[in-house]
Amino acid sequence: MDVPDDATAAGGMEYPTLITSEVGSLGSGYRWLAYITAHEIGHQWWPMQTSTNEAAAPWLDEGLTEYTGIRYMADSPRGWGSGDAVAFEQSLYAAQASEPATLPAWQYINGAYVVVYSKTALGLWTLEGVAGTDRFRHAMASYLTQYRFKHPNSADFRAALEGELGDLAWLFDDYMSASGVIDYAIAQIEQSDVASTVRVVRKGAVRVPIDILVTFSSGAQQQQIWDGQATSLELKFPAGNPVVRAEVDPKRKLKAELNRLDNRIGTWHFMLPILRLGA
Ligand SMILES: [Zn+2]
Repeated sequence: MDVPDDATAAGGMEYPTLITSEVGSLGSGYRWLAYITAHEIGHQWWPMQTSTNEAAAPWLDEGLTEYTGIRYMADSPRGWGSGDAVAFEQSLYAAQASEPATLPAWQYINGAYVVVYSKTALGLWTLEGVAGTDRFRHAMASYLTQYRFKHPNSADFRAALEGELGDLAWLFDDYMSASGVIDYAIAQIEQSDVASTVRVVRKGAVRVPIDILVTFSSGAQQQQIWDGQATSLELKFPAGNPVVRAEVDPKRKLKAELNRLDNRIGTWHFMLPILRLGA
């Protein structure tokens, strides 16, 4: 339902089998109407079917719904339009990144409540990247099937996802319920006569598993997964085929990582062909 132009505050609300959106004051280039509509339709599952407590656990309501809406926008044929769905959600999250996302609604003050939406959406999107889309969707469907109309709480949601995907302490303890952020970096590539050493560091408190991609001077590449439990990791390779480039999270699975500038280092060996071409 499209609300009257002088009722913009009502233009984005969910009811069982009914949603409102608002055409009047919204710019057409921003895909705002599609985003609001996707979000409100998402509510027909969370919480209309799960029947969670919106005040005690708003993240099971608005957070799951925000993930659903923004994820739809990222995959929809017309996309987000100008800009990027991930960047939009990250901009909401960035201002309040140290707030826990799982508090009762009444414990948030001022604008901090936005993390219930954005931090949850980016956390679930990160889990999708780590677990793989099929496994993640299967786990979410399993939660819905198991708890439909049964008023699940936060512990029930965690149990349902961990039952499908294994231990998720990084998501629920390090990230969702705490002030930690996801932040990894390549600190250094060091060459010696005997070895080529890549040093990877975990700068954030969230210990999410991460992909590391290393490129050698021969052009060959090697990818491995680090569990991120320690604060740093050293990878050593034979000096004969030195590492010329190293990157964490090359496929950008970790949607909740805000600082990506330090995710990649290339040595001068890597830059040389580019310099020769004058590019
Ligand atoms: Zn909502």
